[in-house]
Amino acid sequence: MSYDAFREQVRTFLNENLTPELRRAGELTTTVFSDFEASQAWHRILYQQGWVAPDWPVEQGGTGWDVNERYIFQEECKLANAPSLFALGLQMLGPMLMGYGTDEQKARYLPRILSGEDVWCQGYSEPGAGSDLASLRTAAVRDGDDYVINGQKTWTSMAHHANKMFLLVRTSKEGKPQAGISFLLLDDMQAPGLKVDPIISLDGRVEQCACFFEDVRIPVANRVGEENQGWAVAKFLLEFERGGHNYTIDLKKQIKKVREIGAMHHGIDGRPSLENVTLASRLAELEVDALAVEYTDLRLKRAFAEGGNAGALSSLAKLTGTELTQRFHEIALDMLGPAALPYQPDALEPGFDGSLVSEDYALTTMAEYLNGRASTIYGGSAQVQRNIIAKLVLQLDS
Ligand SMILES: Cc1cc2nc3c(=O)[nH]c(=O)nc-3n(C[C@H](O)[C@H](O)[C@H](O)COP(=O)(O)OP(=O)(O)OC[C@H]3O[C@@H](n4cnc5c(N)ncnc54)[C@H](O)[C@@H]3O)c2cc1C
Repeated sequence: MSYDAFREQVRTFLNENLTPELRRAGELTTTVFSDFEASQAWHRILYQQGWVAPDWPVEQGGTGWDVNERYIFQEECKLANAPSLFALGLQMLGPMLMGYGTDEQKARYLPRILSGEDVWCQGYSEPGAGSDLASLRTAAVRDGDDYVINGQKTWTSMAHHANKMFLLVRTSKEGKPQAGISFLLLDDMQAPGLKVDPIISLDGRVEQCACFFEDVRIPVANRVGEENQGWAVAKFLLEFERGGHNYTIDLKKQIKKVREIGAMHHGIDGRPSLENVTLASRLAELEVDALAVEYTDLRLKRAFAEGGNAGALSSLAKLTGTELTQRFHEIALDMLGPAALPYQPDALEPGFDGSLVSEDYALTTMAEYLNGRASTIYGGSAQVQRNIIAKLVLQLDS
């Protein structure tokens, strides 16, 4: 099938399956996460169609599409305002288990990630361990066939919705900090001794949580990789986190959005913001930079398609993709000026049917801007990505 025909096939599917409610949920998405119910509903539709995990091998439930088809699919979904899927299972844990999991772990977990029955969250960061992740202290002590876990994880995205968590724990204090870490799978977010507290974000909503462990038991059979060798597993997974996101498609959506805002909104001179020479030339510059990110993204996709992990390229994509997205958020605010200021969080719920205090086209701009500040922190901060690039690409070892 030609790529044009493939694109048509995807569009037809989206026209038939993406309901107005789901499209609205996608339109109102201001972070990487869409409304939970909408996201799960869309996951089930894609699963029924066999299209939920295009990046997975066919024998594990993938689609068999080549790298361009996968790109077209993601692009069409994004531009049609499909809700985003909860990516931690599909994009991170699943591919990692294919590399490091036992046969039992693969058989047990992969089908449930595909079907959407399991929603995973990531327990890496702790109050004293973010960029310096290897200093993590949440302890796992062997007791018969279980580990007993005590400690705290923080910034755990979607822990209040997830039913499972993959986490890093300290199983030894001997040697280098990296050498005493193990990777565990927690099967039940309702497990005795686990407390999940929501963290209220800058925009007043909840996406992250603090998770407290008091004598929580996890079977030894739920360890991925050898004891004390979880660091390699954790790093392998992080490359999927940093490289698994398609920034180019996000940026294309941002360009479309900023152009729409700039055409619809009129400044104090009574003319569309897009006709303001300063804003228009800034936007042109951003569009050129977005093209450069697209090429990095395509190189990354090729590396994944050829079966490898992408190494430092994933840091490059993460760094440039997130910084540029933030610049798009900034120009969207500048296009709107004071019209961006009204903030109505309840209007960002998909079912909202009240009246709006701002124009519909301005509804998400401030929330996107505020949430977008975090994108250069999570998944490894911008400074840390620069360190990795300096070391692995530029060979600037300190
Ligand atoms: C919205 C959001 C969602 C998140 N979701 C998750 C999640 O689901 N699961 C999870 O485990 N974690 C999650 N995190 C945590 C995230 O991974 C950490 O916030 C991140 O790794 C940074 O760690 P920190 O917050 O402890 O900051 P710190 O590590 O304390 O860094 C503070 C500042 O110092 C800089 N810095 C630190 N080390 C260096 C260095 N060596 N060189 C130069 N500069 C440096 C950093 O860039 C930063 O500017 C999330 C965070 C956010 C904000």
